[in-house]
Amino acid sequence: MPSLSEETGDRKTMLMPGDTIGIVGGGQLGRMMALSARYMGFKVGVLDPTPNCPTAQVADFQVTAEYDDVTAIRELAVRSDVLTYEFENVNADAIDEVRGLAAAPQGTDLLRVTQDRVNEKQFINDHGTPTAPWKAVNNFEELDAALDDIHYPAVLKTRSGGYDGHGQTVLRSDADLEKIRARSDRGGGFPPSILEGFVDFAFEASILVCGNGKDYVTFPIVRNEHRNNILHMTIAPAEVSEHVAREAHELAIRLAKGFELAGTLAIELFITPDDRVIVNELAPRPHNSGHYTIEACSFDQFDAHIRGIAGWPLSQPKLLSPAVMVNVLGQHVEPTRALIGEHPEWNVHDYGKAEVRHDRKMGHITVLTDDTARTVAELEATGCWDDLKEA
Ligand code: AMP
Repeated sequence: MPSLSEETGDRKTMLMPGDTIGIVGGGQLGRMMALSARYMGFKVGVLDPTPNCPTAQVADFQVTAEYDDVTAIRELAVRSDVLTYEFENVNADAIDEVRGLAAAPQGTDLLRVTQDRVNEKQFINDHGTPTAPWKAVNNFEELDAALDDIHYPAVLKTRSGGYDGHGQTVLRSDADLEKIRARSDRGGGFPPSILEGFVDFAFEASILVCGNGKDYVTFPIVRNEHRNNILHMTIAPAEVSEHVAREAHELAIRLAKGFELAGTLAIELFITPDDRVIVNELAPRPHNSGHYTIEACSFDQFDAHIRGIAGWPLSQPKLLSPAVMVNVLGQHVEPTRALIGEHPEWNVHDYGKAEVRHDRKMGHITVLTDDTARTVAELEATGCWDDLKEA
């Protein structure tokens, strides 16, 4: 067991093969973290309520309990040398409580900032980085006042708990505002929220930054296509000007330094028609838009995450080939499986989820290519993703 600092409970030495990494959350991100950890020789434990969850299938042990079960987090900590997590809505107090038992190299500030959209936007702006204009709003009076500044169109988002577009509403006119009032009158209440100006972006992008608490490296900026608020496709690298690529890299390094980042942080971006780079939100973990790195980079976002929390050195990842990554949601499982035999170029990933549901992320496919536009067209021409075609 690596020695822990008496003061902070954090690890003082590097993790070594044979040590145990405990992951809170057992979905596909935990699974891919675990696969990276295992080939480096680490043992892996996972906390998740679903027996034989995607991560447990490739881990050494599972603590089967809810994510916020403090006793279970303690058990995971007792059996692990370091703790990490695959999603941001982890009980930060519970992680702090067990930091004498296992190290938590990512710390909990990163969690507390990214769990709350107001803290997150403030942190981003405090580090010299632009976001959409925003205001915290807790009731209709504050919303009216904020709209006077921000104007329509605007986006109202709950401060916490939102993902993939859940908990957010676009306000284009007073009529939309009335709908929110009616919803609130019907008993929905007014959750603590944030009002953001609507960004008229040319496209959405993201960049991953990874750290070990001292050194930070970035992956290339990629372009993301969403359908129904869920990531559909990632094109790596994004075709952007040198200016945009540099801005994205520099802001990623600034934010990583601000967090003294250990592990992987994903930064979702809007790129405007006049080449401004605006941060939408942060995810303190590997990200769906970084799955292409598994095949396309000299080491991937999960390797970098594990190396970072293990205190290992990081080198600048190299993009070995352009790539296109497409998600396989529940409704795409059958059509894509039917075509596996015809597509030797498909790198097929399946997350081992027992239950197939519409819109549930079940796997993804990555294609390495020297012509991303052609590959996008070929993927779309299979018809597997026709349900997502824009009307
Ligand atoms: P989020 O949950 O914040 O990632 O938002 C989900 C999606 O909603 C984003 O990927 C964008 O497509 C869209 N969106 C969110 N915020 C804004 C905004 N301020 N302006 C325009 N589109 C937005």
